[in-house]
This record gives sequence, C-alpha cells and structure tokens, in this order.
Amino acid sequence: MTAITEKILRNATELVEAGLAERGRLATLEQVASRYAVAITPAIADLIDPSDPDDPVARQFVPDTRELARHEDERADPIGDGACSPVEGIVHRYPDRVLLKLVNACAVYCRFCFRREMVGPGRGALSAKAFAAALAYIRATPQIWEVILTGGDPLVLAPRRLTAVLAELAAIDHVKIFRVHTRMPVAAPERISPALVRALRLPGKASYVVLHVNHPRELSAKTRAACARLVDAGIPMLSQTVLLRGVNDDAATMSALFRALVECRIKPYYLHHADLAPGTAHFRTSIADGQALMRALHGRVSGLCQPAYVLDIPGGFGKSPIGPNYLSDDGATIEDFNGRRHCYPNSSP
Ligand SMILES: *Cc1c(COP(=O)(O)O)cnc(C)c1O
Ligand code: SF4
Repeated sequence: MTAITEKILRNATELVEAGLAERGRLATLEQVASRYAVAITPAIADLIDPSDPDDPVARQFVPDTRELARHEDERADPIGDGACSPVEGIVHRYPDRVLLKLVNACAVYCRFCFRREMVGPGRGALSAKAFAAALAYIRATPQIWEVILTGGDPLVLAPRRLTAVLAELAAIDHVKIFRVHTRMPVAAPERISPALVRALRLPGKASYVVLHVNHPRELSAKTRAACARLVDAGIPMLSQTVLLRGVNDDAATMSALFRALVECRIKPYYLHHADLAPGTAHFRTSIADGQALMRALHGRVSGLCQPAYVLDIPGGFGKSPIGPNYLSDDGATIEDFNGRRHCYPNSSP
C-alpha cells in the first residue's frame, strides 16, 4: 500500500493526516518543520509505503526529530558557496563554469539537503535587478564556458520564464553549455511538459540535465517517461546521487539504481559523500563505507553504471574524487576488481 494524496503536504498536520507520520510525533515534527522546509508532492507520497518504518523514500522526505540535533562539525553553508559568490545568485568556484541560482524553492525538500539553510518556499527568486547583475557578470567573464542552473530547483520556474532566462544567457557567445540540476522528474514528473522540454533546447548550444535521484524506487514509470521526453528531445541526461545511510548505502540498492538509470539513458555522474549540513548526521556514512561500496560496484556492474565518488571540501574548495584508489602509493602495483595485486613497470622513460 502506498500513501496517496492529491495535494502537496507542507506541514506536520498534513503529514499525519496522510498517514506519513504518527499523531504522537506531531509537536516535535512541527518543530522540525518550522526549522527546515517540508514539501511532499503526490508523486513522492505515491512512492512511500507508510507501513514500512524503514521506507527509503519516506526517510528522504518525512521530517525526523534527529534533524534538531546539531553536530559540531556541521555548518550552515557546508560547501562554502558564500565564499565564491561575486554577485548575488552566482557561485564562481571553477574557472570555466558558474552556478546560477535562479530560485531558492524546490518541489520537495530533502531532509539531508546541503543548502537546507538557504532553500524553502517563499525564499524568493532572484529579483529582476539581481538577475541583470548576474547576467552582466557572466557577459563580462569570457572564461565562463558553462552555466549551471541550480537552486533550489530551477524547474519550479514556468516554461515561459525559463525560456526568457535562457534566451538572455544563450545570447552570450562564450557560453556554450547549459546544465540544469533538478529533482523535478522524480518530484513532479508531469512538470516535464513538452513546453518545458522546448524551453531547455537552445539552438547552437548544448543543454544537459542532471537528475538528483537516490533510490531505484524513485524511477517510477512516470519519472522514466519524463526523462525519456528530455532524452528523446536531444538533451543528454546525467545523474547525481547522495550516499545516504539507510537509503542507498548497500551494493544491491546502488547497483539497481545505477542500472535503472542507464536503462533510462541516464549516465550516473556523481555519487556525493553526504555534506556536513546541520542536523543530517543520521544520514552520513563514513568515507570508508563509501569506498567499500564503490569497490563492490567496480568490475561487477558495467562501467556505464559507475559514477565518480566525490566529496565537496568544506569551506568552498570544490569537489574531489575520493577513490577508492587501485594503484599502490609507489605506483608499482595495481589492484584488480577481484582484489588481486599485479606489478606494473611504472618507470618514466
Ligand atoms: C559542483 C559545482 C560545480 C560543478 O562541478 P562539476 O564537477 O563540473 O560537476 C560548479 N560550481 C560549483 C560552485 C560547484 O559546487
Ligand atoms: S531538491 Fe536539491 S536543493 Fe531542493 S531540497 Fe532537495 S537537495 Fe536541496
């Protein structure tokens, strides 16, 4: 049985009424919901089995009292976006690409979100003035080759607004690539309408869509169809997954997720080690656990199903791959997918 709802659930009372939380937890859940935004769309509720206390989808979206616990290593801006923001709405960390945050709202709010202190309904979109300043920055910075729309979820914008925004960006000669990071095909697949798909296609430029997805169950028939609309329109898709304790931190779930994505013509791109966002300690695994998972995938599922395991370095220093490493420190031996070591004549000529 799944939880069926026709409206977006936005507070503790609505979660209780939909059978997604026990009435006895109402007061504490209200406390969590007043601290960090809550939204569960009908498509997400439909994926949840309320009788399963370990439901991997519920765990991602239904608030939990453990979110009120703040671990000393956690920070409000875990990946240091604020440190590299030359103008409002832009994060410019790497030379050839910028993040452009048009909105701070999402269709659903993930309990482990790394931007949880920044996102929420009514947190507003970039004002016309701020957008003009962001555009001016991109226009004046010729090394920007790629613009990455993120947020929030940029696909909460209406197709007409997206078309207008993208037309302004597409008029900048040195910007060749547009990338959209979104959870919308999972959260509200009907929003991936023909008009939205058309908005993302830009003559003479390449658009990519990166889907945030963490569990194979999120790839419902409707979500797969939404992704097919994008890929059929010539928009390549990649995926990003957050490694989450109790959601996807086992080899069987990960293999099933990455295979399902490849079957949908979506190339797994990044597996993120969970960031040090406030109140998310219960979601984090150790890096050693993540590396063991990557080892379990290596050589056992197709290379198409292998993302890079990355850590966003706290403080704003960017993402780095975190292994595992198969080459010995001295470069003299290399480990194969069965754990056997082989010599390699690694001397320079
Ligand atoms: C993650 C990120 C990007 C994109 O990095 P890729 O490795 O190209 O996917 C760009 N800018 C910032 C600030 C980021 O955090
Ligand atoms: S969709 Fe992305 S930005 Fe929005 S809550 Fe989830 S992780 Fe955060």
